[in-house]
Amino acid sequence: MKINDNFNKLVPNYLFADVARKTNEFAAAHPEREIIRLGIGDVTLPLAPAVVDAMQKGCEDLRFRETFKGYPEYEGYDFLRERIAEYYQSFGVKIKADEVFVSDGAKSDCGNIGDIFSQDNTVLIPDPVYPVYVDANIMAGRPILYAPSGQDEHFLAMPDKNVRADIIYLCSPNNPTGAAYSASQLKEWVDYARKNNAVILYDAAYEAFIRDDLPRSIFSIDGARECAIELCSLSKTAGFTGVRCGYTVIPHELVRDGKKLHDLWYRRQATKFNGVSWAVQCAAAAVFSPEGQRQCRKNLDYYHKNAQMIARTLDKLGIYYTGGQNSPYIWLKCPNGMSSWQFFDYLLEKAAVVGTPGEGFGSCGKGYFRLTSFNSHEKTAEAVERLAAACQN
Ligand code: PLP
Repeated sequence: MKINDNFNKLVPNYLFADVARKTNEFAAAHPEREIIRLGIGDVTLPLAPAVVDAMQKGCEDLRFRETFKGYPEYEGYDFLRERIAEYYQSFGVKIKADEVFVSDGAKSDCGNIGDIFSQDNTVLIPDPVYPVYVDANIMAGRPILYAPSGQDEHFLAMPDKNVRADIIYLCSPNNPTGAAYSASQLKEWVDYARKNNAVILYDAAYEAFIRDDLPRSIFSIDGARECAIELCSLSKTAGFTGVRCGYTVIPHELVRDGKKLHDLWYRRQATKFNGVSWAVQCAAAAVFSPEGQRQCRKNLDYYHKNAQMIARTLDKLGIYYTGGQNSPYIWLKCPNGMSSWQFFDYLLEKAAVVGTPGEGFGSCGKGYFRLTSFNSHEKTAEAVERLAAACQN
């Protein structure tokens, strides 16, 4: 018996453990100081009432023989897939309900989607980005290339015509940088993918945060239906990080080696996934009802207000940043040439504010820092006041 040797190639990521350890040590040494956490990558507001009502109703259905449900469809119930297709239509993107696969979240799909691709494919991954893409492909043993980005590109990695790849991950709005692609930038990626016969895996987990006139879906770009899969989630859109529900869209036109990737994914899910529970799919459908949309929007507005407080403070301090407008994340350049960890320590010591060092998201994150908008208005306001005082000294 041999283990999957690729696990030996994973680079240990101690970032979040180190953040927690340093924060705990600081708290123990300074019990009088109130620590404010702007490193949170999880939602904090409760579910929309319309969503909870629908979930409760779904649970009630399970109480009675007449309405009880057993195994769900692997690909999700039609009523939810139709709601999702209508949601896309609401921002002008046409997809078919039967192209939607309901899942337990985007993280699983980001990793599992690799099952339908050969191990030999070269994968192109932006830097900095959500670390799951890298680790999932290291586990699968695929060669990985990086698409670097920095201030010159406003942290939006663009294709390099001298680099060839088979699978391309894109994330917009990006975690951790909060930067979001324009239609013309996405068109460049689509053209590049088509030229290379590559497939784009487009992570749209933060699409609901987009406020400007920017694409909410890769399928708003001409030609994307022949080269892209979209992964999305209700985690940040509707506070489902604990409830668990996401969806992946695979157009019927997406064909490689004579096979529809849609059918390969169906086969994969039918073999290794037994669907999302009835009550959760009822709750998910309620997200897309008019009432659910209004209530979820209120939560998104709440986070946006926090993001704006952080952004306006950085404007005043003259600190470079991306994000905050179309994203819950603000990605800033550490002041005075500090490294990510130096700034982490400085901010903790001077302001008792916790953020996330950028280097945990790729080597292009060195010297940058992520703040999030998931704390309360009051705590965020207090945190930015302290941050301003610390950075003015
Ligand atoms: N994709 C990105 C870019 C994320 O930042 C996250 C979570 O932080 C996920 C996917 C995971 O989403 P889910 O909760 O649906 O698994």
